[in-house]
Amino acid sequence: MDRYQTLSPLPDRIDQLDELAVDLWWSWNTDGRDVFRHLDYTLWKETAHNPVRMRWILPPEKLEAAARNPQFLAAYDSAIANLAAARTARNTWWANTYPDLQGKSIAYFSAEFALHQSLPIYAGGLGVLAGDHCKEASDLGVPLIGIGFMYPQGYFHQRISAEGWQEESYERLSWEDVAIEKATFPDGSPLITAVPVGDRTVLVQVWRVRAGRVTLYLLDTDLEENAPWDRELSARLYGGDRETRIQQEIILGIGGVRALKALGLEPGVFHLNEGHAGFVVLQRIRDLTEQGASFDDALEQIRKTTLFTTHTPVPAGHDAFPFHTVEKHLAGCWGSLGPHRDRFLALGAYDNGGGPQFNMTALALRSAGVTNAVSELHGQVTRSMWQSLWPGRPVEQVPVGYVTNGVHVPTWIAADLADLFTKYLGANWLDRQDDPAQWDAILSIPDEELWAVRQALRRYLFTFVRDRARNRWTVERVGTPRIVAAGTLLEPDALTLGFARRFTGYKRPELIFTDPDRLARILSSTERPMQIVFAGKSHPADETGKHHLQRVYKRALDPTFGGRIAFVDDYDLHVAHYLVQGCDVWLNNPRKPLEASGTSGMKAAVNGTPHLSIGDGWWAEGYNRTNGWLIDGGGTSDNLEAVDAADASALYTLLENEIVPAFYERDANGVPRRWMAIVKESIRTVAPRFAARRMVKQYVERMYAPALEQRLEVSR
Ligand SMILES: *Cc1c(COP(=O)(O)O)cnc(C)c1O
Repeated sequence: MDRYQTLSPLPDRIDQLDELAVDLWWSWNTDGRDVFRHLDYTLWKETAHNPVRMRWILPPEKLEAAARNPQFLAAYDSAIANLAAARTARNTWWANTYPDLQGKSIAYFSAEFALHQSLPIYAGGLGVLAGDHCKEASDLGVPLIGIGFMYPQGYFHQRISAEGWQEESYERLSWEDVAIEKATFPDGSPLITAVPVGDRTVLVQVWRVRAGRVTLYLLDTDLEENAPWDRELSARLYGGDRETRIQQEIILGIGGVRALKALGLEPGVFHLNEGHAGFVVLQRIRDLTEQGASFDDALEQIRKTTLFTTHTPVPAGHDAFPFHTVEKHLAGCWGSLGPHRDRFLALGAYDNGGGPQFNMTALALRSAGVTNAVSELHGQVTRSMWQSLWPGRPVEQVPVGYVTNGVHVPTWIAADLADLFTKYLGANWLDRQDDPAQWDAILSIPDEELWAVRQALRRYLFTFVRDRARNRWTVERVGTPRIVAAGTLLEPDALTLGFARRFTGYKRPELIFTDPDRLARILSSTERPMQIVFAGKSHPADETGKHHLQRVYKRALDPTFGGRIAFVDDYDLHVAHYLVQGCDVWLNNPRKPLEASGTSGMKAAVNGTPHLSIGDGWWAEGYNRTNGWLIDGGGTSDNLEAVDAADASALYTLLENEIVPAFYERDANGVPRRWMAIVKESIRTVAPRFAARRMVKQYVERMYAPALEQRLEVSR
């Protein structure tokens, strides 16, 4: 670990501190977090919880003092012991359930992974899902290997101008400041692999990220040996044009398979998280034909060991390229597959109206043995969307199943709530988190105690929002209206709605402003005020999304709403934690059925922030009439404006008649009894069913284990 040769040495007593800091395991384990919080709370906050960065700025005296502080040492010893146990434990769920599969592994390919805010290699939901999947796999002992990109400039940082326009800036990541290390060959030299792109060879550096038992390998083309334009290939997540995109996908798919081989890893299953990694199939068929297999036999073999998860019904979410573009960039990739080039290209052929193109989702659908959507409803939508790939087949028989998404509970649960669960559910509640029965004990938590925690979580959110606003005021000197828009006038005790997600048309970020007067009346009630906190980025190329964002921001600037609408900029995992934990209600109003699953609402619900949502994605399965609210305007027509108007009206009615009254109805002790019943139902019903634990177990039981045991029922 070269960075540690330049850092001040650690005191002997805590000489494994750096080892702990570079394993992101610390981030989802209380012990691990406590170590760095106790080390220096100011730096912990200043670095947005980045222990690797903290090490560079922490004075050696602080480390010496920590090594003598009994309270710190208790946390340290416990974290070190637990990390060692997590890495080596033999009695994991996986080991106990599948003793015959020891030594096998699963490669999980994803263009983004959201493990921690300090590693900005994610844009949104897809990355969060991948990150949560890896963490849960680690907890369960599932031998997963992640393959993705190390984007040196990551995803953009967002600032909002005085006119409400999103400004994007990319920050070059400093390797020393993040929990990554170079992957090396056994002789210690950096692991670099060559990938043919077009008529040239691009070198790919492989980085390693540790997440407990799971390791991620991240590909990076920013090497001196590469031409300047090739160095840029992996610079940014979703930064480039179509030509860049296909080259990135070649690096991910073909480079990823080659990197695994260079690492000496031989996964028995390849899981493609979204179509971006579809070229995995090309390299694997090529490898098999090089060993003498026919194209058909190779494809058959690939199908038995390839799984594909599709994530969106929105057409723009499915990459398609003209055939000449594909041929140009794949020119150097064929090898022994040359004679079968047309057969391979046919696997991706799909006509979405504008003539046939090479479609990455079609490629994955045709070459994976099993495909799943991410919620029950999304399964239906996906089957009809891709029905034409199975001509003559009734839609119900299109071979696409579903595994509803879930969220990694230890990552998303507020520490104060986790303590309460320990008290009322038992010390090992996390071990039984997917058992619905244990969650009935939520009902035994005294309302007063749970309400006190909910109040505290809202205050943490407001402290965070205020600190950000203060920073913009004192450091950036932005004008007063923007300081108000940043949330300075929010009231710590008022009913708070959260709306944080990517700003894009189908998520309808402006729906709640359909009738501004009606909304203003709800917000500005003297007795029972309401406030809304918005956050979210718009994709840099999504002009429509940016206009939505601008109009929402202008509402936050508008005195009509009395400073009760706030916009928190630069939405990321860190902001998301505060919001899902600290808001009272989580608003989600996509245009049905375009939200495949959605996960932020699950994070909120397990924290006792009930979901107020259209019956789309996971909420179509999760809503039970008592655990949140269903926005149902009843519109089914193709007249989008009518549907929007009906949904908006339903939303206002719910707010006016149910949500505001329930929140403000207090007993003699000031406790909102009716509200607490909803909060408890939210936690009780959502935590077990929408935990990543349930999700990862389903992937294992239905797909990973059967594929590794060579008994996967390939659907066709
Ligand atoms: C959870 C999360 C998302 C995904 O939220 P959706 O509800 O699926 O839109 C996006 N971005 C961040 C930072 C998140 O934490």
